[in-house]
Amino acid sequence: MSQVILITGGSRGIGAALARQAAARGYAVCLSYASKRAAADAVVAEIRAGGGQALAVQADVAEEGDVLRLFAALDATFGRLDALVNNAGILETQMRVEDMGAERIRRVLATNVLGAFLCAREAVRRMSTRHGGTGGAIVNLSSRAARLGSPGEYVDYAASKAAVETLTLGLAKEVAAEGIRVNAVAPGLIDTEIHADGGEPGRVARLAGGVPMQRGGTADEVARAVLWLLSDEASYTTGTVLDVAGGR
Ligand code: NAP
Repeated sequence: MSQVILITGGSRGIGAALARQAAARGYAVCLSYASKRAAADAVVAEIRAGGGQALAVQADVAEEGDVLRLFAALDATFGRLDALVNNAGILETQMRVEDMGAERIRRVLATNVLGAFLCAREAVRRMSTRHGGTGGAIVNLSSRAARLGSPGEYVDYAASKAAVETLTLGLAKEVAAEGIRVNAVAPGLIDTEIHADGGEPGRVARLAGGVPMQRGGTADEVARAVLWLLSDEASYTTGTVLDVAGGR
């Protein structure tokens, strides 16, 4: 039986690259998406065409009912869970904190923080030896923003990623003796569509010169780091944050 990986936000960007690479390494892939069904279906079709197993489920990670439905679909189709990647994340239009409305901040925190908590909870309930599971690994997508702060752009997003890093640290210690490793990856400037959501599709190109390696990163480069943390190669690594940021 293949190892099973659940990737939230697997329809585009880093999540889609991760889904493709995970399938190539033999994982059966369950990916979730928020609204872009055609993009999710295309990733699933590509994996199946390559002989792999894949399932796409629409589920808003900020909604508990959707998360429960996502895990029920995973259980029904694959019957096990070995790896969770909390990848779904959003940012909103660049602005200063003094201009942010409560609803915007609530949306960002609900998706990036509450969503990661709910999915981690469901994964622990399935993986932990305390609950009869056989262990597993979780990787949370943080961001270099957690420690840079994103002033003038999205301090709410940066703060949400700092929360993701603390979730990683605390949960890692909580479940370390129960067969589960929990780590985070903090990407720097990665070329995906998320920057357009902030109102600046060309943001990576604008800031690339300030990166020590003089370029933005690719979704595939982040995916490889995530897969290493999930693998047995990282068997003594838990509670860490791995920067994938070209030195930024
Ligand atoms: P992206 O290209 O914008 O893709 C976001 C993915 O998340 C899509 O699959 C989207 O689904 C899904 N999603 C969004 N809101 C969701 C929700 N409420 N419920 C379920 N799924 C949801 O983003 P990305 O750049 O690949 O980023 C992936 C992760 O890496 C995020 O956590 C992000 O914060 C983090 N990160 C990215 C960068 C970067 O420079 N790109 C840097 C640091 C950290 P739909 O396709 O249906 O919309």
